[in-house]
Amino acid sequence: MIVALSGPSGVGKTTLANGLLQRCPTLKLSISHTTRPPRGQEKNGVEYYFVGPDHFARLVAEDRFAEHAQLFAHRYGTAKATLEGIEAAGHDALLDIDYQGVAQLQSHYPDAVSILLAPPSLEVLQQRLRDRHTDSAEQLAIRLAKARHELSQYRLFKYLVVNDTIEEAVDRLVAIYRAEQSKMSRNRPLLQEMLGEETAGEPAGFPP
Ligand code: 5GP
Repeated sequence: MIVALSGPSGVGKTTLANGLLQRCPTLKLSISHTTRPPRGQEKNGVEYYFVGPDHFARLVAEDRFAEHAQLFAHRYGTAKATLEGIEAAGHDALLDIDYQGVAQLQSHYPDAVSILLAPPSLEVLQQRLRDRHTDSAEQLAIRLAKARHELSQYRLFKYLVVNDTIEEAVDRLVAIYRAEQSKMSRNRPLLQEMLGEETAGEPAGFPP
């Protein structure tokens, strides 16, 4: 299963993703490739695979990405090999990607589970961003306009989770993951094996 989390900056995406990963050990975070330089303590192969623009362009030309997008001055992408590695280890993949990536991912993998994370209101988001004390008034206005644009892409997504309290939002993410795990379409082979039915031709795990 591929689960994609998306949402505006300040919505608490990283905290919620970590909460979900902690509660669901079968879910593994997919590490993206990016052309942006590492920030602070970030390490290659941990937060991202940091690559140069030429390297990234070559991967695109070779069709190595399940999805990729340009955000500000930098490019970000999920390598097909990364998803295949997670699948080969018997795990499901959790992606933290933007809405452009979600659109591409769903066109390649229609079963991908896309979740939009939203703040309870734009006012709350604004307050949370202000409380970080990292933005100038101008940067804050830009970030809010971007947030509104990202939220306006809601039609792309299969699920919406509002981050009112972290605990409640993580509970909802876990509930979505569990329900998706129980979908008949993902479990047919189990019954077919139990009943001694022919399973050949059934899609297993990741879609082709
Ligand atoms: P940052 O540079 O702050 O780590 O990430 C900026 C944005 O890039 C985040 O909103 C994140 O969701 C998005 N992002 C990270 N990796 C990928 C990726 O592989 N594909 C896409 N489409 N977006 C990504």
